[in-house]
Amino acid sequence: MRRGDQNRRASPTIDTARERVERFLAEHGDPLPSIQTIARAVGCSRQYVYLVLPAGYQPGSAARRLDAFVKSCPNALLTKARGGMSFSQIAAQLGLKEHAIRNAWRLLAYPPRIQLKLTPQERSRLHYERYKDAHRQRTLAWRKEKPERWREIQLRADRRWAAKIIRNERCLVCGATFAWTNQHERGRRLNGRPVACSRPCALRARKAERAAMKEHIVETA
Ligand SMILES: [Zn+2]
Repeated sequence: MRRGDQNRRASPTIDTARERVERFLAEHGDPLPSIQTIARAVGCSRQYVYLVLPAGYQPGSAARRLDAFVKSCPNALLTKARGGMSFSQIAAQLGLKEHAIRNAWRLLAYPPRIQLKLTPQERSRLHYERYKDAHRQRTLAWRKEKPERWREIQLRADRRWAAKIIRNERCLVCGATFAWTNQHERGRRLNGRPVACSRPCALRARKAERAAMKEHIVETA
């Protein structure tokens, strides 16, 4: 025999308190208010509220179910953004209210989700990954629509890139130190441009190269 039943027989006033709790829960039970709130509203002790709470409202039952669920699916500990589940997804899975999951989470002392929040960098990365295809499509469409404007932008970007100094070099002809830019480097790679500080030095370097080449051909002939 439950204690509540004994009390009911002993005192009819407690019976009405139980009814008041049940009525209060029927009206305000979703999400479950704190035990103290119920006790105040009904005008009885918190202990009494615990005693008469229907099984589905017992704070422990959601925790037990959540614990069993997390044991079978440890990923649920993670947030959705980190490959886990949201509280509302867990709640739907267990047939409970999100509010009950939150309470049970605290009760079980699971890692607080705030620690799992994405950093601004992670969030912007995620946003980029999610929308990059759409962005690329829009960009391609825009280029097709405005080819002159696109060429203009490209040219400007190339000019900026070409003017960038990447290191200091020493002129092979006069020995002067000078700034070596992306433009110089591109010329060296594509056209065999000599490492020379100026046009006259470059001409002299080319001349010397040609002479050396001629000698080489004569030697090997
Ligand atoms: Zn020079």
